[in-house]
Amino acid sequence: MSRRAKSQPLADPLIEAPGASEEWSRRYGQAVMNTFGPPQAVFVRGQGVKLWDADGKEYLDLLAGIAVNTLGQAHPKVLEAVESQLATLGHVSNFFATPPQVQLAERLAAMATRNQPDTGAKVFFANSGAEANETAFKLTRLTGRTKVVAMEGSFHGRTMGALALTHKAQYREPFEPLPGVVEFVPYGDCDALRKAVDDATAAVVIEPIQGENGVVVPPAGFLADARQATREVGALLWLDEVQSGMGRTGTWLASEPSGVTGDIVTLAKALGNGFPIGACVATGPAADLFGPGMHGNTFGGNPVAAAAGLAVIDTIESEGLMARSDELGRHLAERLEDLMLYEIAGCRGAGLLRGIVLNRDIAPELAKAALEEGFVVNAPRANVLRLTPPLIVTAGQLDGFIDALPGLLRRFA
Ligand SMILES: *Cc1c(COP(=O)(O)O)cnc(C)c1O
Repeated sequence: MSRRAKSQPLADPLIEAPGASEEWSRRYGQAVMNTFGPPQAVFVRGQGVKLWDADGKEYLDLLAGIAVNTLGQAHPKVLEAVESQLATLGHVSNFFATPPQVQLAERLAAMATRNQPDTGAKVFFANSGAEANETAFKLTRLTGRTKVVAMEGSFHGRTMGALALTHKAQYREPFEPLPGVVEFVPYGDCDALRKAVDDATAAVVIEPIQGENGVVVPPAGFLADARQATREVGALLWLDEVQSGMGRTGTWLASEPSGVTGDIVTLAKALGNGFPIGACVATGPAADLFGPGMHGNTFGGNPVAAAAGLAVIDTIESEGLMARSDELGRHLAERLEDLMLYEIAGCRGAGLLRGIVLNRDIAPELAKAALEEGFVVNAPRANVLRLTPPLIVTAGQLDGFIDALPGLLRRFA
């Protein structure tokens, strides 16, 4: 295809040949810091829901770069938006405004206030989920209070502030002391939350679905209770929708069906369909806490990233991808139930943010076996396989994976 031909000259001569993956992995080990361990594959191109590695092997991408590529690889609408924006105006810094940035801010403000459309909202643009959360963390300090209540099992990112709110000891401990006064309560426990929230509390931060913890869904009513508890003491409710937002669960925000409006909503992963962009959206009075000079960055809301975000939103709408996500998520859960495999305890999540819960701690090995068979999935914890495919995936493609599961599980019998 002509688009590929255009981008080919950038590539190393060795990019795609039998045995090339091994050579790239070796070079990766020499040149790239060892924060992720050895690469499980070396990918060189993608189209829609398909990926190809450096040896030319084809894969079905059921991870989508961790809930990022909602529209799959090389979606024509995103390509068009990014290419034409880059050719028109690529970057000017935040001393200046650009139309795509303003338009995207308006769309995200509306997205965060769908349950309460009269509430005003404003956006700060960041470049990642962690940076969106850092922004929100700083914003909470402007309440004049310092305590933040976070959830056990939480994941908010790897920068120092985001890490302070992240529960996992393995991620935190090497980097302590971390900023802030942070108290963790069990996820979904309304009584514990009420006990922890007091008039020293600046904010409560909650993922409406805990993706990194293995796609954990809180009990119905938890978000509404958190909304009430925070309102009673004048604390902010901060919803981290970095993974769950942007249509993946069948609504723009995973929190939308609860009827709750967060004072802060953070977004990133799927916002640019692979273009790095994050956003901290604040509603009501929280929208005006920052003043000039209090926060900033160089790239945030860059017109190219913003154009990607606008294309993502328009395409999800015009192609009806949220309804599709809801439908396909149900299909996946039903097909898994019909299989009646004793190794599978259940399928949790919403839309196409799904965790297949196993009865044994074999998820990492199972993900590896799936990769060998050409399916990209991952294991956020030892007993959970996570599926976050592009929302353009077909029922037939999902069925292909379900049909392969019994054979994959048999390897661990
Ligand atoms: C991935 C994730 C983050 C961190 O985003 P990065 O872009 O990796 O910094 C924060 N919060 C949640 C809920 C996430 O899933």
